[in-house]
Amino acid sequence: MKTSDYNEYFVPTFSRSGPPLVKGKGVYLYDATGRKFLDFGSGIAVNALGHAHPALMKAMVDQSKKLIHTSNLYITPPHIELARMLVMNSFGKKVFLCNSGTEAMEAAIKFSRKYGSQTSEKKYHTLSFFNGFHGRTYGALSATAQDKFHKGFGPMLEGFHYSHLNDEKGTRKILDKHDFAAILVEPIQGEGGIHCASTAFLQFLRDYATKRDIVLVFDEIQCGMGRTGTLWNYEQHGVIPDLMAIAKPLGGGLPLGGLICCDKVAMAISPGNHGTTFGGNPVACALGCEVLKIVSKKPFLKKVTDLGIYLKSKLNELSIKYPVIKEVRGSGFLAGAELQIDPKEIVSKCKKAGLLVISAGSNTLRFMPPLIAEKKHIDAALSIFEKCL
Ligand SMILES: *Cc1c(COP(=O)(O)O)cnc(C)c1O
Repeated sequence: MKTSDYNEYFVPTFSRSGPPLVKGKGVYLYDATGRKFLDFGSGIAVNALGHAHPALMKAMVDQSKKLIHTSNLYITPPHIELARMLVMNSFGKKVFLCNSGTEAMEAAIKFSRKYGSQTSEKKYHTLSFFNGFHGRTYGALSATAQDKFHKGFGPMLEGFHYSHLNDEKGTRKILDKHDFAAILVEPIQGEGGIHCASTAFLQFLRDYATKRDIVLVFDEIQCGMGRTGTLWNYEQHGVIPDLMAIAKPLGGGLPLGGLICCDKVAMAISPGNHGTTFGGNPVACALGCEVLKIVSKKPFLKKVTDLGIYLKSKLNELSIKYPVIKEVRGSGFLAGAELQIDPKEIVSKCKKAGLLVISAGSNTLRFMPPLIAEKKHIDAALSIFEKCL
């Protein structure tokens, strides 16, 4: 099937080309012509367990025989079980489940404002960081401090302010200026180019937020759920947020997002304040339980840590050999190589050679293998990458 055969049907929100993908197995994807790809994008950090994982297929079939949807007027066992598991495996006391990362961030902004409104009606300001990404709806988009996403869609919502990641002095200056309800931060900026927040900076945000009763929100939609070798990235910093948005890998490939909440913010919400028709869908939650069960196991996480160090060290070796690689960043299976050239060219070369990787920011190549990837897959991916360099 030629690109022209299907692109005419779609609003051009994405520029896609090539034959459709028809199946996947483990770390591999196959297109309609039978070509095989090593998937180091994982459907943008979604397919943590790779493709066609037996536990996910089984959970999907079993649950779909019982219930596919009930709405949030009722509760189902998978919804209860996933919420319980998320609370047991995090700082959180309560959970709100929705369908995507964007919705999790919208909930975070709304819950923070509601909590702030208990103190003062002026306590609604929100701080987020340049090069961050929080989603495409107006709240999440207003919090996404990147011009390219705002252009043509203005005006953004009122009360959104931006600062530079890891700039304590500048950030303090802005925070001192307004009555803030929330600080939103990705511990590792994914879409923006794999920029890591420092422990000292996150601790500064925590201290400031505590002092001023501001809700500290971590967006772990991309860096959470085992991707960096701990179940949650905040564990590596020892800094605990008040709210944490999760999504991408949560539903094992089905649309599922969540907001993990501390008690005080959760208790500012009453029935009718916020909602969703599909959120907490029983099939998505059944898959979520399986993903969480597998990725939260210590030996599983240890392997991601070890292989993540290996991946980064191999990328660093390449950066010495090929000056076109400017810098290597990231943690675990969320690695970025900043290039001196437009990464699009390398992305398409890699695809032609059988490797799927994704660009991030304006000049960074992202390596996000499924968390089940082995050393041999990393070696294979990097050898293709090297050839393309
Ligand atoms: C992908 C992403 C989002 C948005 O999630 P969607 O499910 O696409 O709505 C928000 N924040 C971060 C950090 C992300 O990576």
